[in-house]
Amino acid sequence: MAHDPHHDHDHDHDGDHSELGPMDLRVRALQSVLSQKGYIDPAALDVLIDTYQTRIGPRNGARVVARAWLDPAFRDWLGRDASAAIASLGFAGRQGEHMVAVENTDDQHNMVVCTLCSCYPWPVLGLPPSWYKSAPYRSRAVKDPRGVLAEFGVSLPDTTAIRVWDSTAEVRYLVIPQRPDGTEGWSEERLAELVTRDSMIGTGLARTPEAERRSRP
Ligand code: FE
Repeated sequence: MAHDPHHDHDHDHDGDHSELGPMDLRVRALQSVLSQKGYIDPAALDVLIDTYQTRIGPRNGARVVARAWLDPAFRDWLGRDASAAIASLGFAGRQGEHMVAVENTDDQHNMVVCTLCSCYPWPVLGLPPSWYKSAPYRSRAVKDPRGVLAEFGVSLPDTTAIRVWDSTAEVRYLVIPQRPDGTEGWSEERLAELVTRDSMIGTGLARTPEAERRSRP
C-alpha cells in the first residue's frame, strides 16, 4: 500500500471520517449533558466556536501577513522557512509544525485545500471553517478553482493563474494575499485588520480600506 500521510497524524477527523477520538466523544457527551440540563445554550457555544474560527485564530495569521507586507526581510524569511518566521512571532504548535507560505501576485493566486480530510494550519488560522472540511469544497477546489472562487465572490482576471495547494500531515499552507492599494503608510495593526481568514486560505482577498471602513459599527 502506498504511503498515505493522512494515516499517521492526528487531527480532527469529522465529516466523512466516522470514528471519533476519545476526546471528541468526551466533548460531545459533555455538551449534550450540559445542554440537556440547561447549563449551556448550544447556540451560544456556536458563537464561541465561531469567535475562535473567525476572530482569534486568524488574527495570528493576519499579523504574519501584515508583517510580510511591511518588512521585506521578514517576507523573504517566510518564503525560505515559513515555520521559523511564523514561530518568531510566537505562533507555533500542533498542526503548524511545517508551514509553507505562498504569496499571491498578479500572475498567480494561491488557494489551499485538503482533498483527503481537513489538514489546516491551526496556529495561524485557528479552527477550520466547516466548508473547508466539506466534500464539495475538497473536490471542487481542485477541479474548478475559478468556479469555487466565484461562489466566494472572487473573480480574478484570466491572466491570473490559480494554483491549488493540497495540504497534508507534513505541510500546511498559508496564503499571503496581495496588499490592497491605498494602504501606504499604514501600521502593522491597521494592515492586519484587512487580512481575513478566507484571504489566507485563498478563497478571499484582503479587504480594501473602503470595505474595512464600511464594516465598522
Ligand atoms: Fe487532512
